[in-house]
Amino acid sequence: MLQHSCVANSSKHFDESGRIFIRAAIPVRKGEPVAINYSDPMWGTASRQSHLRQTKYFTCRCARCADPKVKLTGLWSFTRTSVCYYVMSVFHFVLY
Ligand SMILES: [Zn+2]
Repeated sequence: MLQHSCVANSSKHFDESGRIFIRAAIPVRKGEPVAINYSDPMWGTASRQSHLRQTKYFTCRCARCADPKVKLTGLWSFTRTSVCYYVMSVFHFVLY
């Protein structure tokens, strides 16, 4: 089952016939949840949170949303340990 994360390890894509494909953005270990971003990973925390509450009826509590540095200053202050993982997720989203 797919779950949401603003630091998703996978992304969704549709082909011409409307079939959905899930692609891993990074290696996903056995037993690890497969997560896609239900919102736009390029948006700031407030915009993602608002979008998720209005369209998906939940408040995201992922590592990115919980990071106070991101809430105050935006994407590029995301913690060093998470930034590479996050950037890979965004680039994967943009490329496909
Ligand atoms: Zn989040």
